[in-house]
This record gives sequence, structure tokens and C-alpha cells, in this order.
Amino acid sequence: MFHSARIKLTLWYLAIIMMVSGFFSVIVYRGFTKELGRGFRIQAGVPGGRIFIQNRGGFSRILPFVIYPEEIPPDEVAEIINLAKRRFALQLFIINGVILVLAGSAGYFLAGKTLQPIEEMVEEQKRFVADASHELRTPLTSMKTEAEVALRDKKLNLKEAKELLKSNLTEVDKMKNFSDYLLTLSRYEGGAHDLAMEDVDLVEVARQAIKRNASLAREKKIKIESRLNEVVVKGNPQSLVELISILVNNAVKYSPEGRQIRVSVRGNKKQASIEVADEGIGIDKKDIPHLFDRFFRADTSRSKARADGYGLGLSIAKSIAELHKGSIGVSSKVGKGSTFTVKLPAF
Ligand code: ADP
Repeated sequence: MFHSARIKLTLWYLAIIMMVSGFFSVIVYRGFTKELGRGFRIQAGVPGGRIFIQNRGGFSRILPFVIYPEEIPPDEVAEIINLAKRRFALQLFIINGVILVLAGSAGYFLAGKTLQPIEEMVEEQKRFVADASHELRTPLTSMKTEAEVALRDKKLNLKEAKELLKSNLTEVDKMKNFSDYLLTLSRYEGGAHDLAMEDVDLVEVARQAIKRNASLAREKKIKIESRLNEVVVKGNPQSLVELISILVNNAVKYSPEGRQIRVSVRGNKKQASIEVADEGIGIDKKDIPHLFDRFFRADTSRSKARADGYGLGLSIAKSIAELHKGSIGVSSKVGKGSTFTVKLPAF
């Protein structure tokens, strides 16, 4: 699809360039023949074996040609002029041919460059749809299999049927969570134009994010320590709580039991920074560049098997940070822990 679009675009470029070049060639050719016909007089037999065409101002060399030692009769003058015209037309034709080849190659190259970002975007969308479908397929398949097995079981009692419904409900909840994540992501990636911006105290944001994850942390006997200095930024409070909550949630998810997490907020007149540091499993160097990609989950054996998730949290976090004209970064060491830092312009 993109190859044919590239060819079409190249042809359009070529058509435009050749129209311009053809137009100017016609003008130049007409000017040249007019001049030849008007005040020019052919003088032949000059040194070097070339035809010289003399105008009132002096000599100017036009064409390599045969030598005429004597005066040239008028019908031969006309013939020479015609020949000069033909030679000039041929030269213009060759020049246009060269322009065609050069413009064709340059056009093909430029068409590729123009289409590249669109191609990448389409590829990303395709990957997104494939990944999302895959995530939905897993719980659906599991629900289908359970239901089929139960239907085949002639001795299925009420207790077992209830168990089945319970298990199906868990899968439904997972799918609902997943679709909520997708909706949130598409909202933020679409620019979230309805997002109301106001003065937000980051201390309050951090407190709410910690509160949201308190029970999960308690389950894993993880202590969340906070060092919060008052900083005010322009932003949307709910989105900022969501952003910090994703980081705190990950810190809890990817930390073994009994470890500690530190959330700090500080800032100056220019910049506010929020840090979420954990003593968890850490992230491999090779995974760091992909961490904020949609659906990316690091090393299956270390994280995927242990913690629930779809690999969308950090993409959402990044979109929220960028919507606030901020950035998000990470430093990490495998086995030692990770520190995520969000930087936002201070108010
Ligand atoms: P999810 O947690 O749902 O898998 P995220 O987008 O939040 O998705 O994170 C992407 C991946 O980054 C995770 O699967 C995990 O491998 C890694 N990751 C994120 N935060 C941490 C952390 N604090 N410590 C270690 N690994 C992390």
C-alpha cells in the first residue's frame, strides 16, 4: 500500500517539476529563435571550425559546425538557422531528460521521507490493535473453555456453577479494567482537551496516590515513606494523582515483600519534581528504552509471571506528564531497585 502511494506521490512531484521545466524550456526556446530570426547575421569561416553568430554587440559562440570559407548564400543562412534551432531544441530536450531522471530519483526519495511517519503511525496502530485483541482473547478463551466444560458436565451442582460464575466474573473484571486502561490511554494520547487545568498542590497529589495504594502495600508489608515539600503546579489534579499512583502501584507490584518505597516532592521556582523510588526487582538496561511503549512488559519470567498488568500504566503516565508539559524518566539497577522521576514546570 505504501509502495504504491510512494510511486503515486513521486509521479505527482515529477508532473509538477516537468510542467515547470517544460514551461521554461518553451519560453527559452521561443526567445532564442526570435533572436536568431531578428537582428542576427551569420558569419562563417572563422577560426576553430565553428559557426559564429554575430549580433550587434559582438561575437558569441553558439554551435560547433562546418566551416564555410566564403560568404554564405541566403538559403544556406536559413538552413543554418534551422539547424541551430534544432540543435538548441535537442539540447533543451536532453536537459529536460536529465531533469526528469534527477527529479524522479529525488522525488522518490522525498516521497519516502514524507510517507515514513504516516507508515510508522499505521504500523503502530496495527500493533496496538493486535496487542489489544490478544489481551482480550486470553480472558475470553478462558471463560469460554470453563463454560463449555461446565455445560458438558451432566452432574454439575449449584456450588460448582456458582464457582464457575465467580471465576467468569473475575475474568470480566479483568476485561473491564483493561478497557478502562485503553480508554484512559486514548483519552490522554488524544490530547484530553476537556482536561481542566488549575493550581495543584503536589503534596496533596502525592498523598492521594499513596492512599490509593495503601492496602496493596500493606498486603505486601511494604512501607511507603514520603518526603513532601510544598510545590504548586498548573495541572489537572485527578490526572496527576493517576500519574503518581501508577508509579507507586508499580513500585509496590515490582518489589518483594517487606521492602520500602520513598515518594518525594520538591521543587524550585522553575521546576517541580516528584520521585518514586523502590528497592524492588529493578529493570534491565536493555528494557529501559521500551518501558514507556504501549503493552511493553519487561522480562516475562521476572515480572509478567508475578505481577498483574497490561504494560499500559507507564504509557499513560508518560502521556499525562507530557500533557502537563513535563517529562518522566527512570534510573534503575537490576536487583537493587528503580527510581522514577516526573518533572513538571512549576507554577
Ligand atoms: P504493567 O505494570 O501493567 O505491566 P507498566 O506500563 O506500568 O505496565 O510497566 C511496564 C513494565 O515496566 C512492567 O511490566 C515492568 O516490567 C516494568 N516496571 C515498571 N515499573 C517498575 C518498577 N518500579 N520496578 C521494576 N519494573 C518496573
